[in-house]
Amino acid sequence: MTASRSARERKAASQAGPLATVKIEVDANDQFVYKITCAECIAKGHRKWSAYRPGGDNGFMAAMDRWIFHLHEKHPGSDAPCMAYLAAAQQRLHERREQQEAEQA
Ligand SMILES: [Zn+2]
Repeated sequence: MTASRSARERKAASQAGPLATVKIEVDANDQFVYKITCAECIAKGHRKWSAYRPGGDNGFMAAMDRWIFHLHEKHPGSDAPCMAYLAAAQQRLHERREQQEAEQA
């Protein structure tokens, strides 16, 4: 558990780039909780920005998507490796919205 957690943490941190601090915690249900914090937004004294998502691979993906959107909006010059997935993250967001609309109809 611990080894796989730190391996995931390293993998996520390398994808998220130098602005991100990635922490993976384990909650009361033995689930991973992904937390990505933005170093620059804290340093500037703005409201502390972080994505916080529980779950396995889904949680990882959801936290990473939020982080990608944050970089895209606030730090457009960033060349973090995860920005390669911006189009895929936007597509997932679009699909989630369409699904919600379909469920409400
Ligand atoms: Zn930021």
